[in-house]
Amino acid sequence: MKLDHITAWNECLSIIKNDISEKSFNTWFSPIKSVKLDNGVLTIQVPNKMSYEWLEAKYIMELKKAILNVLGSKGRLEYKLSLDPDRMRTKSGKLDKTINPFAIPGIKKVKIASNLNPNYRFSNYIQGDCNKMARSAGIAIANKPGETSFNPMIIYGGVGLGKTHLAHAIGNEIKEKNPQHNILYITPEEFTNKIVKAIKEDTIEEFIKFHRHIDTLILDDIQFLGGRKKSLEIFFNLFNIFHQNNKQIILTSDSKPKDLKDMDERLVSRFKWGLIADLQAPEFETRMAIIEEKLKDEEVVFPQAVKDYICFNITGNIRELEGVCTSIIAHANLSDREVNIELAKEVIQKFVSFNNKKVSIENIKTVVASHYRLDIELLNSKSRKREIVLARQISMYLAREFTKHSLESIGSHFGGKDHSTVMYSINTVKDLLHHDDRLSEVVTNLEKEVQFTLKN
Ligand code: ADP
Ligand code: MG
Repeated sequence: MKLDHITAWNECLSIIKNDISEKSFNTWFSPIKSVKLDNGVLTIQVPNKMSYEWLEAKYIMELKKAILNVLGSKGRLEYKLSLDPDRMRTKSGKLDKTINPFAIPGIKKVKIASNLNPNYRFSNYIQGDCNKMARSAGIAIANKPGETSFNPMIIYGGVGLGKTHLAHAIGNEIKEKNPQHNILYITPEEFTNKIVKAIKEDTIEEFIKFHRHIDTLILDDIQFLGGRKKSLEIFFNLFNIFHQNNKQIILTSDSKPKDLKDMDERLVSRFKWGLIADLQAPEFETRMAIIEEKLKDEEVVFPQAVKDYICFNITGNIRELEGVCTSIIAHANLSDREVNIELAKEVIQKFVSFNNKKVSIENIKTVVASHYRLDIELLNSKSRKREIVLARQISMYLAREFTKHSLESIGSHFGGKDHSTVMYSINTVKDLLHHDDRLSEVVTNLEKEVQFTLKN
């Protein structure tokens, strides 16, 4: 017998009733009426926007479970608002067609700074077997964000294989096709930072509401959310809101979702709703194409033998491939040397031994302290002297860049600073690097020193 909407909704209600308190049930579920059931889509009418938002925020799990039980895995729920028609008329008495029931009253759609890096595009993202599937899925998403079945899209792969580049390329392409589309690219650090701030200022609700302006959310390196309970909980909430409203979610991860550590299981299970696309190490021809693109960009030419040598020797990491080229160019310019196999060999040796040897926070502190002619211990102190603060902040920044330590762990290496202090320090340096050319030069030199001096 075909299920009608009234029976279906009543069955859902009897399941939900078992899962929540009677008071909540009466407040939030009793006023709902079912409207129709079409092709497995059950439409319910809720009294106002607030109740819709509340249901989505608080009872999404219960609703999902009920729908799954009653309508099966293809079942879906849609909301209709029983807006008073008079409230939809403008002052002139005309029906206002632009009313969007899900928009937040008093807030117009605002433009959000996307944080996208304009240099990461599809046009300079070389295609190879290693990334074909992820790249094509990315293009499909860019054409119809939120409307493909690739939602969420999870890009996973090892370090330096192009996850961040691809995520930005999708974002940039969407933006180019539709400048009105709001995209937000965010790292777990920034995300947690904002949550810490919102908790302090008691503005979590506003924080969540802010995300309703966003059409596509890109969260890079989701593995770093691991173990951050509050961030995970809020992200889970946002994930549900995004998914329910057909907004696009793009995540990157350094491991398979099921291998992610200290993640919310509910979140990981939702990743299967979309597409999980992996990036493999590039094959020889792709490595060659990437090098050629890079050299074209830098307007330099390497002899074919040097390019071959690099491609044969650097196999597993595109960032390293680029790093070796940059380094060869720098050596050739600075010491006026010819680009030949000998130079390539030297540079690659340094790179490989550097990468085999792990940089420690102690190494970094030594380099920074000696640059600033400070006693290392001062980096662990509470001193607020300007130069010491800067040296400490730069050390933390480099620790984040060169080691796999968490923010908490970095803090503990600097006299027990908490993770928000570390994050603040890192962000301060990042900001300074944008505006302060001199500091930028200092940090670049420190980076080189950490890489090339410490390995011996
Ligand atoms: P991940 O986020 O996986 O660690 P990135 O996206 O930061 O890696 O990529 C590392 C570097 O390699 C970046 O400079 C990026 O532009 C470059 N890169 C990665 N994949 C490609 C590709 N397919 N074509 C060209 N450059 C690439
Ligand atoms: Mg990355």
